[in-house]
Amino acid sequence: MHDSQTFMSEFPLIDHHCHGVVTSPTSTRLCVESLMSESYRAPPPGTSQFQKPLGLAVRRHCAPLLDLEPLASADAYLERRAQLGTHEVNRRLLGALGIGMHLLDTGHRSSEITGIEDFAQLSGNPVREIVRIEAVAEDVAASGVDAAGFAARFADALRRRGETAVGFKSIVAYRTTFRIDQTAPAGEDVVRAAGSWLAATGNRRPRISDPVLIRFGLWTAAELCRDRKLPIQLHVGFGDPDVYMHACDPTHFTDFLRAMEAWEIPVALLHNYPFIREAAWLAEVFQNVYYDVGAIVNYTGPSGRRIVREALEVGPFTKHVFSTDAFGLPELHYLGALLFRRHIGDVLDAWIAAGDCTTRDAEEIFKAIARDNAARIYALA
Ligand SMILES: [Zn+2]
Repeated sequence: MHDSQTFMSEFPLIDHHCHGVVTSPTSTRLCVESLMSESYRAPPPGTSQFQKPLGLAVRRHCAPLLDLEPLASADAYLERRAQLGTHEVNRRLLGALGIGMHLLDTGHRSSEITGIEDFAQLSGNPVREIVRIEAVAEDVAASGVDAAGFAARFADALRRRGETAVGFKSIVAYRTTFRIDQTAPAGEDVVRAAGSWLAATGNRRPRISDPVLIRFGLWTAAELCRDRKLPIQLHVGFGDPDVYMHACDPTHFTDFLRAMEAWEIPVALLHNYPFIREAAWLAEVFQNVYYDVGAIVNYTGPSGRRIVREALEVGPFTKHVFSTDAFGLPELHYLGALLFRRHIGDVLDAWIAAGDCTTRDAEEIFKAIARDNAARIYALA
């Protein structure tokens, strides 16, 4: 291993988008496999979530941390996992991350996974919060509010939730697609939309999907971000099953990105698969746009190197940020960090070998993506 590889394998990362892990002591096969999928559907009878690139990556890289040979069978892996228990598996995998800080999205299935304090304790790392805008709106609706009072109550709740956070996040792409009007809605339209939404949800946990309310959430968060110099994260493409993928191309959201640029608000585009080139192009064009390829690096397993190479094609090195998008399983945190280091290391080594950059350049590029860009846009000490 030469110097730049040692540097890249040891340099502490900032994971700018991830989620907590499951801690319930009995992680059944069903539970583990369901967390190895971005779908809510079970695989066809007689098949397994291990029969895809992510399964190969888990068996190859995680098995040795559970005292198994690399590429141990899925059955052996799950059996050993059950034997060790969730707590020990979390301890071993999260203890081997080499990550210096996690920015945790606390708004997705939060009752099933660890929150900020628990995850900090488990990982042994500092953890900062990213507040999911739509989850706060749903909390406000569930707490009992009428249509006329919704806007003020939501704005107040978002401000309070954001007090200790380092950014806000929106899942607008999943709930409405990016092909919507991107201006701030008028007050009377918000009252009308809130009325229909609250009436339709009754006693159930409300699920926000009205474009007027989603736009209201985004612009309310944008005002807080403008005042407090915080970034907004936007989920793009792969990462949730309830999407119309073709309409999640982030270039459809150009008007909003431009408006945020005028307000000097950084916007971090998350995941981006299969729109990696579109996201990198937006980062090239707009001063305030950033992007990552979290999630898909795990899901592409052995092909992840090609993904990382594509992410480095055109986007400025100062705009590309590392993330794992890990949710639920410590395997996804571990793989996200390991595969990122390996793939970007391989790509940069090839550049050095071809004379396209110096070792020093490669280290600067790695540092920027691994840590420095996130530290700058989220103002992390
Ligand atoms: Zn996520």
